[in-house]
Amino acid sequence: MDTTPDPTTPHDVVIVGGSVAGLSAALVLGRARLRVAVVDAGHPVNEGVAHSHGFLTNDGAPPADLVARGRAEVAAYGVDLVDDAVTGVRRADDGTFVVARAGGPDLVGRRLVLATGMRIPLPELPGLDEVWGGDAASCPFCHGWEARDRPIGVLGDPAGVAHLAGLLTQWSDDVVAFLPDGAEGAPPGVVVDHREPTRVVVEDGHVRGVEVAGGDVVAREALFVGAWPGPASSLAADLGCEVNDGGFPVTTDEGLTSVPGLWAVGNAVTMARGLVESAASGSVAARMVVVDLVQERLATPA
Ligand SMILES: Cc1cc2nc3c(=O)[nH]c(=O)nc-3n(C[C@H](O)[C@H](O)[C@H](O)COP(=O)(O)OP(=O)(O)OC[C@H]3O[C@@H](n4cnc5c(N)ncnc54)[C@H](O)[C@@H]3O)c2cc1C
Repeated sequence: MDTTPDPTTPHDVVIVGGSVAGLSAALVLGRARLRVAVVDAGHPVNEGVAHSHGFLTNDGAPPADLVARGRAEVAAYGVDLVDDAVTGVRRADDGTFVVARAGGPDLVGRRLVLATGMRIPLPELPGLDEVWGGDAASCPFCHGWEARDRPIGVLGDPAGVAHLAGLLTQWSDDVVAFLPDGAEGAPPGVVVDHREPTRVVVEDGHVRGVEVAGGDVVAREALFVGAWPGPASSLAADLGCEVNDGGFPVTTDEGLTSVPGLWAVGNAVTMARGLVESAASGSVAARMVVVDLVQERLATPA
């Protein structure tokens, strides 16, 4: 479904990113009778993941189903769904946001919501991409249950590995952290292996172990990757938003950035959100966008 809108009429709100955060914002905005466009490139951070967990009433649902259902729900309120990549945004003299996209004319929004998600820098380890989103993940709250009581390996960025390995002792007594020599912070209850991982051993789509320098294989059945994600898009920074050390835009609790009229939601703001928190942040921000637009209208002489 691509309901490409008439570009000649400005939208009240343009949302960049149409996964759980962006669509949750669109649902509130559409139901508030605003003219809304959602532009989405179709590559969420959980792309290809078979099952997601922890979203009450949707536990175990394929994430692609959540998005498909969300798209149908917002379309029912007249939201324009545009399947495209946004290539840049600029602020026009009248304060509107001019949104350039790869496959069609610019869109114009009186307000802009960035729901562009995050990017996880995975280590370049042969085999990892075959099991990523299956036996390998990064979030114990999302996939720890599936790894319970199994042999778990933790690898990736050393600072992330130490933290993650300690957390994973909540789910399994058999946690091996792959940390370079001299790395500090190995938590109690975690076995540290200082040898460098060279390959994930995969059989029938499942993790069987981690091959380390020298050729030994450490038998493991689940992997968690310590990593420090960054924003998937530079649009917030390009628009002059204040950003934090991780490159994410700084926002109020409601998602308003330092640029008036510009909100950011979901993982576009922080890695510390899963599906339900990202959806909630989109919903909260959308309410504030409605309030902002109504206040502007009421303050404008007829
Ligand atoms: C392997 C894995 C498993 C996970 N499992 C779970 C789980 O079980 N439970 C859970 O709660 N969470 C899980 N998560 C986290 C969850 O996927 C994210 O928190 C959630 O998807 C964030 O939603 P979002 O809408 O902010 O961003 P995303 O879902 O990442 O969506 C961002 C969207 O913006 C689009 N976009 C980006 N830039 C542009 C652009 N320039 N133009 C147009 N579109 C653009 C992207 O294509 C994408 O569709 C998992 C994550 C991973 C990596």
